[in-house]
Amino acid sequence: MTRDDGHGWRATVLTLYPEMFPGPLGLSLSGDALARGDWTCEARNIRDHGLGRHRAVDDTPAGGGAGMVLRCDVLAAAIDAAAPPDDPRPRLLMSPRGRPLRQARVRALAEGAGVLIVCGRFEGVDERVIAGRNLEEVSIGDYVLSGGEIAALTLLDACVRLLPGVMGKPASGVEESFEGGLLEYPHYTRPRDWEGRAIPDVLCGGNHGAIARWRRAQAEAITAERRPDLDRGDDRPDP
Ligand code: SAH
Repeated sequence: MTRDDGHGWRATVLTLYPEMFPGPLGLSLSGDALARGDWTCEARNIRDHGLGRHRAVDDTPAGGGAGMVLRCDVLAAAIDAAAPPDDPRPRLLMSPRGRPLRQARVRALAEGAGVLIVCGRFEGVDERVIAGRNLEEVSIGDYVLSGGEIAALTLLDACVRLLPGVMGKPASGVEESFEGGLLEYPHYTRPRDWEGRAIPDVLCGGNHGAIARWRRAQAEAITAERRPDLDRGDDRPDP
């Protein structure tokens, strides 16, 4: 069914590379959801607001140093053209300096009207536009990408799969890694024996209580071993 009530989840992305969108999100579950109108993905070129004959968007850093910085006036013009001041959507700036993205924040974003995302390039953006346009810096992890586009695609993928009707079975979202502060238990499927490795007997016995207890114990053991920080409640909603 195609959704034409205009109430789909709306993503607007400001980027120097609009061709990167929807990119991989045009395929599979997110692509089907896009075709149905469950969400929309509008990519706008920051360079449309560039200055002069060359549509310049960047300039050299004040105080010197390597690289170029995205200009605050150009970026503000792009933001103002993309979203009116009363647009209810959060304005995110993909940035390695941001608060690390976690599943609780993804869930909150998916429950809202959508997002406006600014993708940085070069050394980053002029600090003044972050305050002047109320941008919330969001990081996808402690490493440095060459631009915000792949970070934006990552955030959008995480949000879109949570939209109502996007994943086949509603239940497949509720026991996953990070939900409930635990990593997920291991999965198995046929064949029952493979290269001398058998599926654990408890999963083949049909005792649903025993299966649930085994999965819970596995999730706790894997979390304790790999991510002890999650046990301290790091998936709680941000304050
Ligand atoms: N000089 C900056 C890095 C710039 S990388 C610094 O040291 O902090 C260029 C752009 O890529 C950034 O403006 C940002 O939009 C994006 N980016 C890089 N790493 C990212 C990450 N881990 N999470 C989100 N965005 C990232």
